Amino acid sequence: MVRVVLLGPPGAGKGTQSHVLKAELGLDLLATGEILRRAADEQTALGRLAQSFMEQGKLVPDKVMIGVIEDALGEIQSTGFLLDGFPRTLAQARALDEMLEQRGLALNAVIFLETEEEKLVERIRGRLLCSRCNASFHTQFCPPAVPDVCDECGHTPLMARSDDDVETLAKRIAVFHKQTEPIIPYYREKALLHTVDGMQTPPAVSKEILNCLKKR
Ligand code: AMP
Repeated sequence: MVRVVLLGPPGAGKGTQSHVLKAELGLDLLATGEILRRAADEQTALGRLAQSFMEQGKLVPDKVMIGVIEDALGEIQSTGFLLDGFPRTLAQARALDEMLEQRGLALNAVIFLETEEEKLVERIRGRLLCSRCNASFHTQFCPPAVPDVCDECGHTPLMARSDDDVETLAKRIAVFHKQTEPIIPYYREKALLHTVDGMQTPPAVSKEILNCLKKR
């Protein structure tokens, strides 16, 4: 079974690709941003804690996120999964390796979606999300067939994420450079890293990722 991490800055297309890969490969998807947004909507203790960090474009503390992934891994039946949004720090990457090792498992691949930073703002700016099934759309680049209605599940209305404003996005990109980028050499040294050009069309990106996973 494939165990893969999707890495990239906000707007790189991780959410779009993770849903395609989930459908194509039948993998369990563990998307930490989705887990936290759901918890925030439901106002659970985790959601209330995470909300203030998310609104400020900051990372939720490692200890909390490692616990979230530990719980999520405990819930899935399969040994194949796709991680979107985790790990985001070196401490999380090391903790993930330990968690998997305890289960006799290891990652097969880490896909880094490389992007042009100046294009991220326009990608994020028109982004729309379905709050029911988490499918993502874009007013200009990937509009839903019927305005404001989710193509996947029919839910309406589609919403913009509260942390997708330009100011918070700039903070999230800075956080990516400072806290998340150091995990790229970590995975390169383990010979797990594949860099994919995230500026291609979404189907072209999916094709390249699938080709890459086939070789693993
Ligand atoms: P995403 O949907 O992946 O862009 O995540 C949205 C927000 O959730 C991030 O900006 C962080 O505030 C928080 N978040 C998601 N995953 C993590 C993680 N692995 N570590 C810390 N914070 C996270």
